[in-house]
Amino acid sequence: MTCYVSHLECSVTGKKYKAGEVHTFSEVGKPLIVRYDLERLGSEVSRKDIENSTEPGFWRYSPLLPVSHESNRVSLGEVITPLIRLDSSAEYLGVGSGSIIVKDESRLPTGSFKARGLGLAVSMAKELGLKHLAIPTNGNAGSALAAYASRAGLSTTVLCPDNTPEINTQETLAQGGDTYLVNGLIGECGHIIADGIEEVGWFPVSTLKEPYRIEGKKTMGIELAEQMGWKLPELIFYPTGGGTGLIGMWKAFAELTELGWIDCPMPRMIAVQSDGCAPMVKAWEEGAEYAEFWENAETEASGIRVPSALGDFLILKAVRESGGFAISVSDDDILATAAEIGHRDGFLMCPEGAATAAAYMSAVNSGLITGDETAILFNTATGLKYPMPEVTSRVDKNEDIDFGKFF
Ligand SMILES: *Cc1c(COP(=O)(O)O)cnc(C)c1O
Repeated sequence: MTCYVSHLECSVTGKKYKAGEVHTFSEVGKPLIVRYDLERLGSEVSRKDIENSTEPGFWRYSPLLPVSHESNRVSLGEVITPLIRLDSSAEYLGVGSGSIIVKDESRLPTGSFKARGLGLAVSMAKELGLKHLAIPTNGNAGSALAAYASRAGLSTTVLCPDNTPEINTQETLAQGGDTYLVNGLIGECGHIIADGIEEVGWFPVSTLKEPYRIEGKKTMGIELAEQMGWKLPELIFYPTGGGTGLIGMWKAFAELTELGWIDCPMPRMIAVQSDGCAPMVKAWEEGAEYAEFWENAETEASGIRVPSALGDFLILKAVRESGGFAISVSDDDILATAAEIGHRDGFLMCPEGAATAAAYMSAVNSGLITGDETAILFNTATGLKYPMPEVTSRVDKNEDIDFGKFF
């Protein structure tokens, strides 16, 4: 197996860093980006080789991933996540002659797409000989880290704000993560982790503070291209927190173009947030390069409750370069849209995924899109991890049953 990584580079200054060594972020405090020798890769690996791969899930894209030795790949049985058309909800959502297709990331190990990023981060941690990983998390990242790290025989410390959904803290604990509730926000959990680096030798796998989660999330973009016959959709709606996925996909499309594996217009990248935490939308509307901290962040869509993102400028750059936009929706609209899609299409979206559908509707209404495009929405986790409607209707077996009430 050949590793095609040439080096890492600072996303701001372009300063190069050596591959094969332990890195966090660059010396100016910005994310490090993994670079590949695409010329050599392109001459030795073809699209056909990828199509013929029998590796599970995203590991079929190994030539475009940083892990050098197959034995370091940590796998829990990843799958290619399906594309699911929402035909019965199309009219409700405002689709015209186009189509709306969900990429359903809920099928991945630990029930969310965090498996992609943390699967890669843990594999690289194993390869680089790290022993103890630590993460601040609102939920899904903690459980994915715990699961992959336990499988690799590495220790994990997971710090969660004490309003993190219980299901996430419980699944993290159940999968071997040493899990703590912190009476503070995610940023404050991050400060404790930063101190622990010095004190107890933790290695932080916080969003964009290590280089490999982007590489894992990048596989969403490669996978989508392959699934669509090496073409891309016109619109991508992405529920944006730290933005790893949006940044990663944009990187994937650039690499695929450079390799000559795709030759099509780029999709418009649409960053979706909640009204209760929309720093990227505010920055996009103001034409700012960086986003300001969002005070009192609050939303049911806990995966996108990220008041400050280290990669804000990379998110905004991808959105702008692609001719996309950033848009926020209310929690009421998120929950109402999830209910409609559940009823009409039998598809249970997580709130973050439902936010993309609500944003699609809003964008059609305001004329940002026409409804005649092909749009991909990302359902980033299973809806089963979130509150669902309570069943209150009853049948009493001892009474005469009024069959008129069944319809
Ligand atoms: C983490 C998360 C997001 C946000 O992902 P980023 O790539 O960090 O922006 C969206 N949805 C869910 C369910 C998440 O867990």
